[in-house]
Amino acid sequence: MKRRLGNCIVELAIGDITAEQTDAIVNAANSELAGGGGVDGAIHAAAGPTIMQQTRKQYPDGCPTGSAVATNGGLLNVKYIFHTVGPIWRGGRLGEEADLRSAYRSCLQLAIDFQCESLSFPAISTGVYGYPLDLATEAALSEIQSFVKNNEAPQRIRCVLFNEGIYGAYARVLESWE
Ligand code: ADP
Repeated sequence: MKRRLGNCIVELAIGDITAEQTDAIVNAANSELAGGGGVDGAIHAAAGPTIMQQTRKQYPDGCPTGSAVATNGGLLNVKYIFHTVGPIWRGGRLGEEADLRSAYRSCLQLAIDFQCESLSFPAISTGVYGYPLDLATEAALSEIQSFVKNNEAPQRIRCVLFNEGIYGAYARVLESWE
């Protein structure tokens, strides 16, 4: 499913983000950039050990929640991996939405800084970090929408969703766009 927003196409796909061929993919990392399970583990496993070598060298202090840092794509078919840190869900009153929006925005800004025409996101924070899927989806798509309206965003933004349930949540929100 796709929607056009000005010059940008926002696309939803079901799949494994390590198979993407966009200019950059986003990793849902932890603040130590220490690797882990879920999409983080899948990306490091597929991209190879040079990614962790880069993050240790360039970002020894890790990455705060809501920010993002870039490495190259290692063995993947992408130029860059943007490692961002979404919030851990703690009930919703501790700034989780602002942090999640900031994670998306930081990656979109890196896409501009690195002149990426296309960028793929996973559903940040919706796995181990426990952010309720419908709320995470609303925040993700609304932040992408407002960024695209206000910036020279990449021409293609893909949300690569790991199963049909997550895809369904995204599709319901995207369908409500004019
Ligand atoms: P977080 O700690 O930010 O919650 P997770 O990796 O646990 O990160 O989950 C984030 C989302 O990524 C979840 O929706 C999960 O289903 C999804 N996911 C896990 N592996 C992959 C993958 N290989 N490609 C795309 N999405 C994935």
